[in-house]
Order: sequence, then C-alpha cells, then structure tokens
Amino acid sequence: MQRALNFNAGPAALPVSVLQEAEKNWLNYHNSGMAVMELSHRSKDYEAIHQKAQDLLRNILSIPNNYEILFLQGGASLQFSMVPMNLLTEGKIGNYVLTGVWSEKALQEAEKIGSTYIAATSKVQKYRSIPNEISISKDAAYLHITSNNTIYGTQWNQFPSNEFIPLIADMSSDILSKPLDIENFDLIYAGAQKNLGPSGVTVVIINKKLLSNSIDRLPTMLNYNTYAKHNSLYNTPPTLAIYLLKLVLEWVEQEGGLKVIEKRNEEKAKILYDCIDESEGFYIGHAEKESRSKMNVTFNLNHDDISLKFLQQAKEAGFIGLNGHRSVGGCRASIYNAIPVDQVCQLAEFMKAFKNKN
Ligand code: PMP
Repeated sequence: MQRALNFNAGPAALPVSVLQEAEKNWLNYHNSGMAVMELSHRSKDYEAIHQKAQDLLRNILSIPNNYEILFLQGGASLQFSMVPMNLLTEGKIGNYVLTGVWSEKALQEAEKIGSTYIAATSKVQKYRSIPNEISISKDAAYLHITSNNTIYGTQWNQFPSNEFIPLIADMSSDILSKPLDIENFDLIYAGAQKNLGPSGVTVVIINKKLLSNSIDRLPTMLNYNTYAKHNSLYNTPPTLAIYLLKLVLEWVEQEGGLKVIEKRNEEKAKILYDCIDESEGFYIGHAEKESRSKMNVTFNLNHDDISLKFLQQAKEAGFIGLNGHRSVGGCRASIYNAIPVDQVCQLAEFMKAFKNKN
C-alpha cells in the first residue's frame, strides 16, 4: 500500500513500523484474547505498558529522578489552565513570552487565574522570530515559553536559564526532536499528536519541588499531585494512546535515540530551507533565519494567486497538509520525526519543478 505524503501539523504521520506493530496486536494483545483498549487499566498487561512508556521516556530524554512523568488528558490546551492553577500562587506573577497563538492562549488562561506579565513578545514582527530579550517581573512565579511555534514555524535555539525562576515550556511540537537538558526546565508539557503518538495523551514532566505549590482545594483532576501520587492511574488513563506512545518511544530507541533523530531532522529542514533560499524569491520563508523551526517549515509564494495554484497542484500530486494554519495562511510543511527524508526530498523536487514551470 502507498503511504500518503503526510505533512500535517498534528495529528501527524506516525512511523509505519509503529502502526504495523499496533495492527499485529490489534485483536489479541500478548495472547490476552483482547485488544489493548479492552484491557483493564488495573491489569498486569496494561500496567506493564504504562510503566514501560514512562521508563522509555525517562531513558530517551535522560529525565532525572527528581522529575515526575505524568500522563494526562485534555491536550496541551488544558495545561494552559493547569499550569497557573497549580503554580500561580497568591501574590506571584506568571511571566509569559509571546511567540504566537499558542502562547497567547496560555497567557489568556493564566489571566483568569491570577496576575500575569508579558516578559517578551514578537507579535509586532508577526511572530517571525523568537525575542532576544526577556524582562522578568518582580515576584515571578515562573517563566512560560513555547519551544516551537507550530503555526509560524519558529523555534527556540537557546533557552532562558531557570536558575532564579522556574522555566515552563510548551513543547507540544518539538519534544523528542533533539536531545534536551531537562534540568534547564521545571515543567515541560506536550500534547502527543506530533512527535509522541496519537492525540489523547498529554505528557507532563515536572520537577518534584513544584508539586508542593498546588493548593489542596484544586479539583482533584486538575491537581498535578493526583497524577504524581497515583502514577497517573488515579482514574482510567487513555490506555490506547499510551500504548502507541510506548511503541513510538521504542521506535525512537531502535532508530538510535535523539542524537540520530536530531541529525535527520536537521537534514530534512535543510533540504526545504535550501529550496526556499535558492528559489530567487519565488518562495519566501515566513520565519527569520535564526528563528527557523526544524519541525514546521512555513513559507509563502510571491503572490496569492500563485500560492493557491501551488497548494492545488501539490494536493493533486498527493502532498497532504501543506496549507498554512487558518490564522496565517500561506504554506506549511510539518516534518516531524516520523517523516522520512525521502518524502522531504520529494516535496523539494515538487517545489523546484513548480517554480520552473511558473
Ligand atoms: N501548543 C502548541 C505548540 C501546539 O502546536 C498545539 C496544537 N497544535 C497546542 C498547544 C494545542 O494542543 P492541543 O490541541 O493538544 O490542546
């Protein structure tokens, strides 16, 4: 069967071998006579999947033991609320760097909970870059950033220090794309549907020292402590999504780990950015060069009519998901971990051929 040339921004392509492994076990997981989604979440079989997913993530990202790994639901969007509910304590100020719509949404949720401060923003530059300078308010509870801006195609290369205030990052669209120094962060969250697996599970990696901040009168399911105390098994977790997360993590290990993945991601991004930069202004990259994302390559064509023609012909040629986000338009190729180099080459060839004909 021919696989689609899937450049969707999320949910996005998963490794074929992961889907095949899931298919093999679909009706009968480990001779249980049941599918994974039919297993009790209190069964030995499921508990082993749950534990393995946590262990693999801890190994692959070198997560120290003073950090908890939590599995939640509600997407990254629920984390926009849970972060301030748990960490924006009385008298403190939630600091936010605005680098796009997702960080704006995170800020809007925090404003409903407590005091906030915009520590930096690149909004006037149409979110083409990551701000260079950050000013932190007094009494800061934390600094919140979005490590990769899925819509605008920008990505942080160097992170602010967490020496004096906790650093919180929404890593929904670039977690697992490269090695990470976890200790540079106090809380990381990511919806799974880009590099981790299918939608349905949200991963939170939290420094245990932050857990004591959560007030007891928070609703049980909105308190990080509930997940930490019960190993994310207080209630029924999204078992199928966590199983698929485990398979994706096994795939990352088989591929050789994050250094290998990072190198491949750099190679893929370079193919597309070179194609843009060598097009003599036919393709115009949205992000400033030093802020370019290796996950989402955003670009425009030199006028709107030709953009529409490009998207139409790309669709006819089998390329899926190249339309830019509805809020910004233009084009976007999302090239997460599971996109093979070969598919990126095919897209670059198509872009070159289209340019030559037009
Ligand atoms: N943050 C980022 C960086 C995203 O890309 C997205 C979704 N594309 C979200 C947050 C929202 O995630 P969810 O749909 O899981 O709530």
